[in-house]
Amino acid sequence: MDDLLRAAAERSIRYLAGRDARPVGPMPGAVERMAALGGSLPEEPSDPAAVLALLDEVGSPATVVGTGGRYFGFVTGGSLPAALAANWLAAAWDQNAFSRTTSPVAAVLEDIALAWLVDVLRLPAGTVGAFVTGATMANFTALAAARHAVLARAGWDVEAHGLFGAPPISVVVGAEAHPTVFKALGLLGLGRDRVVRVPADDQGRMRADAFPRLEGPAIVCLQAGNVNTGAMDPFAALCPLAREAGAWIHVDGAFGLWAAAAPGRAHLLAGVELADSWATDAHKWLNVPYDSGLAFLRVGEALRAAMAVSAAYLPEMASREPGQYTPDSSRRARGVEVWAALRSLGRAGVADMVERTCRHAERFAAGLRAAGYEVLNEVVINQVLVAFGDAETTRAVVAGVQKDGTCWCGPTVWQGRTAMRISVSSWATTEADVERSLAAMLRIAGERKVGKLTIGGW
Ligand SMILES: *Cc1c(COP(=O)(O)O)cnc(C)c1O
Repeated sequence: MDDLLRAAAERSIRYLAGRDARPVGPMPGAVERMAALGGSLPEEPSDPAAVLALLDEVGSPATVVGTGGRYFGFVTGGSLPAALAANWLAAAWDQNAFSRTTSPVAAVLEDIALAWLVDVLRLPAGTVGAFVTGATMANFTALAAARHAVLARAGWDVEAHGLFGAPPISVVVGAEAHPTVFKALGLLGLGRDRVVRVPADDQGRMRADAFPRLEGPAIVCLQAGNVNTGAMDPFAALCPLAREAGAWIHVDGAFGLWAAAAPGRAHLLAGVELADSWATDAHKWLNVPYDSGLAFLRVGEALRAAMAVSAAYLPEMASREPGQYTPDSSRRARGVEVWAALRSLGRAGVADMVERTCRHAERFAAGLRAAGYEVLNEVVINQVLVAFGDAETTRAVVAGVQKDGTCWCGPTVWQGRTAMRISVSSWATTEADVERSLAAMLRIAGERKVGKLTIGGW
């Protein structure tokens, strides 16, 4: 095993060291060459070193280099050094984070990481949390607790009896809510389409003046960080309206919640602490390896009621039993990497990472505007939407940027306009990365303008 693990470490180091000298997308021909990974199931065992070599030689070139400094897709970050190293060690530990008995260290690291997260994200003291795979599952987990709480208040035990015959729940979402919120609502039997949609403004913020009148059990889903613009819902105006109606307030803050960690940006989230639950990702702005999401609840009781394996598990334990707070039972120890990321960065490091990436976004916006291109959003955090002309032109530039390989950005449609989305989320992005990427974008857009889109590159 020793030589094999040393080889794995060496191959990993070589992969990371080489990421600057290759395209951000897959290497030319790499996707086709993955056929070598398949074929029929081998009849006989093979040497693990040969398995690792095949994986590296065929698999590594077919990756998207999300760990590098010039990946600006999907608001996902890379892996901080301490988080990646902790991930390797945790893989060697192979802990089952289900309970304090199956893994004392996983349970304690989760406790510590949760307390630090509540602190750095400025959530109310006493907030409890669950470690899940991502913000989709964090939305699901928190909304399951919401479903429990609003129906319990109406005298209905949803875990025991389901939704058949239950009092109806009004579900309120913003017109620009993330698609995964609807997925979570569908999984919970609350329906993707029976929601009340509140109009949003030109940045995607729910309009407080359009907030509906609510009666009976109700859940209001707000958003911290629109996936396109980065805009925050006006929590200070909306939360009191929802609270007055007796509604449960949930916030999808997959990446935007992290703005609370930067002193210069925290004001954007004023009032978010008035909510009952929050969903966020650690694999986005905290830069830990996939998969890592977090659900937070002001009061843990509803989450435990929704997630405990059986009612017999319900008596409160002296300490938090992780498996009573998550949809999973057996699961990996995600708290390890979150702990390592926070322990290595400290409060100042998290603040700096968030602020730095926001500044990089501002630089992109300024450089694109100066070249005459239209930035469609107010760049309040780390998101930039740019149009290079009409939809066809913008789509061609996005395709050109991806093919060129200097950096990676995806296309989007924002309130009817086709745009390229730049999400600066990685700890690894330097000013040099920004300038090099900006130059590539401008070169490609310029070539398109004069009708000779010749993509150079790799
Ligand atoms: C990314 C994102 C999600 C989904 O997160 P996953 O980690 O992919 O499950 C949900 N909401 C918002 C606002 C997001 O940006």
